[in-house]
Order: sequence, then structure tokens, then C-alpha cells
Amino acid sequence: MTTAQALVLEAPRRLTRRAFPVPDTGDDDGVLRVEACGLCGTDHEQYTGALRTGFDFVPGHEAVGVVERVGEVAAARWGVRPGDRVAVEVFQSCRSCDACRRGEYRRCTEHGIADMYGFIPVAKPPSLWGGYAQYQYLGPDSMLHLVPRGLAPAVATVFNPLGAGIRWAVTLPGTRPGDAVAVLGPGIRGLCACAAAKQAGAGFVMVTGKGPRDSDRLSSSLLFGADLAVDVEEDDPVAAIRHATGELADVVVDVTAKAPAALAQAVDLARPGGTVVVAGTRGTEEIGFSADAVVFKELRLLGALGVDAPAYRAAFELLASGAFPFADLPRRCVGLDDAASLLESMGGRDTHPPVHGVIEPWGAAA
Ligand SMILES: [Zn+2]
Ligand SMILES: [Zn+2]
Repeated sequence: MTTAQALVLEAPRRLTRRAFPVPDTGDDDGVLRVEACGLCGTDHEQYTGALRTGFDFVPGHEAVGVVERVGEVAAARWGVRPGDRVAVEVFQSCRSCDACRRGEYRRCTEHGIADMYGFIPVAKPPSLWGGYAQYQYLGPDSMLHLVPRGLAPAVATVFNPLGAGIRWAVTLPGTRPGDAVAVLGPGIRGLCACAAAKQAGAGFVMVTGKGPRDSDRLSSSLLFGADLAVDVEEDDPVAAIRHATGELADVVVDVTAKAPAALAQAVDLARPGGTVVVAGTRGTEEIGFSADAVVFKELRLLGALGVDAPAYRAAFELLASGAFPFADLPRRCVGLDDAASLLESMGGRDTHPPVHGVIEPWGAAA
């Protein structure tokens, strides 16, 4: 083990395979042998250039793998040993600033959103800061979670969107048993939000998608806690939820990407006094909805950025429980050489993209 194959995103749609030395480590850090790295909407936005960085970097922020090497100090801090299967959080935490002490390490003053795995220049040593690589460097401030036994690495990568689903659809809005929950967007995060809401006791869960490209995802959602799946090109979601429950939604979770109209729909779907969680970034300033509706309905409008450790722990419990068939999600796993084609497919060039895309960096080499 001296070099690691990795993919470097050099420009929109240009992923280049490069070899990097596997980093030396000391007492305070370690190295992960990456088994699987899940893909989410952010990966497609990076790949297509919708999300510009302006530097070369190894993408991938949903890595699961085996601890290859770990220093003594780091092992004690992370509670891991060599050979343990772990998942790496996208955010790093200094564990000592005010934000980190509050558990809001998304706002860590040392790291924060400028220093997330899968978003760090290769120019910063030791370059291997992302999951599209055979080895990922584990800096001292990494946040690791032990993966429960029996979970395959590709399935374990769901910890990331499922942690998001739990925080965005349950913890943040305070979803209660019996609540009606509407989830906008049937991608992996939408399905995870459905599962999380159902697991929390939601009485009714509706999910929406748009057009033929979402049709497979909408049907999959019925296995992940959704009671009703609505194609907004064919049906009016407000009429649909009224018809099904006689009411509007207590909680609306908008996980759509690049869908400016969705926020207006979210506001329409919420009952007076209801809660709207906005988690997908619009990529535009034009959101086209009447803010008066927020006033008249006295809505709670909550922005959601990222996930925290308690949600990730709950995600692993839910994954390991087998309550939902995450192992059977329509999933495509590829090696490094096919990563670009998978990203093209999930980024919009395919009429039936898989719900879950995973890169297995050793797949092509093995
Ligand atoms: Zn992600
Ligand atoms: Zn901090």
C-alpha cells in the first residue's frame, strides 16, 4: 500500500484518474481504506459545474470503509481500531469551539462549510480528502461512526441521506405521531425523509415528484414509508392530500434540487400553523411564491443545512433494524472508471436513473 488511485474533478464533467501517495500518519490521524462512497445531489452539482469550486479536488463526502491505520491519540478520540468499518462525516469538528461544544459543528470556526470532505483542494496535503479514492485521509478533526455489523458498505453509505431524512423530517420540525407529512422530491433524500417520518409515527406520508424521470422513484417510495406518491405534472398535490386525509400537511419537507416552484407548493401544502422545512438549495433567487401565505397561515419556515451526530446514530440504528428495504434500493455501484457515466446518468441524462448511486473505488481495480 504505497499509492492510492483517486478521481480528481478538474473542470465540469472532467474526472481524471490520478495516483497519490497514501499519507503517512502520526498519533493524531489515520487512513481509511474506502469501500464505498454514496452519491447525492451535491455530487452531481459538483460534477456538472452547477456548484463551482475553482480548484482541483477529490469529490466524495459519503465514505464508508475500513480503518487501515490510526494513531493512538486518534483511536482514543474516535473510539475505533484498525480493521473497524466506519463511516466518515462530511464535516470536521475541532471539538472545542463554541459551535462544536453545542454540537453544531457545521459552524465550527476551525472548519465549517469551507472545509468539508469532498470539497478540499488536492493542493492541500495530503490531497486524499474525498471518497472517490481507494484511501481517504482521516484528519485529526474527522468525525467517525462505527458501522453496525452485517451492513454491506454500499448499503451503509445510506447513513448520510438517512441521517438527513431523520433530522429534516423529524427532529427539526418536531414531527409527532399521527402527523401528516408531505415530502417534496423523491430522490434518495426524499425516500429517506419518508422512512424517517413513518418511523417517527407519522399518520400519513405523501411524496411528490415531477414527470416520467421520477416515476420509478415515486413507486419505490411506497416501500419506504410513503402512503401516497403524486406526480405533480399529473395531479395537484394539494387536492391529493386533502382527498386522502381531509386536511393539509402538519409538516412539509422540501428536498427538491433546482426546483424554484417547489417552495410555493410547500407553502400551499402546509396547514395553518404548520411547519415547512427547506433543505434543497434552489440555485436561484427567484422563488415565486407569496410570502403573505406564510403570514396568513402563521407557518414556521425552517432552513436545514446538514446533519448531526445524533441523527447519524439514529440512521445506523434504522438501517440495521431492517424496518425498510434499504438493501434493495434501486442501486448502481461502479468502480472509479465508471464514476463519470454514473454521474451523467444521475445528473439528468438518463430517463431512469438509479435511486442510489455508489462508487466502489476498488471495484474496477479488483
Ligand atoms: Zn451529500
Ligand atoms: Zn469547532
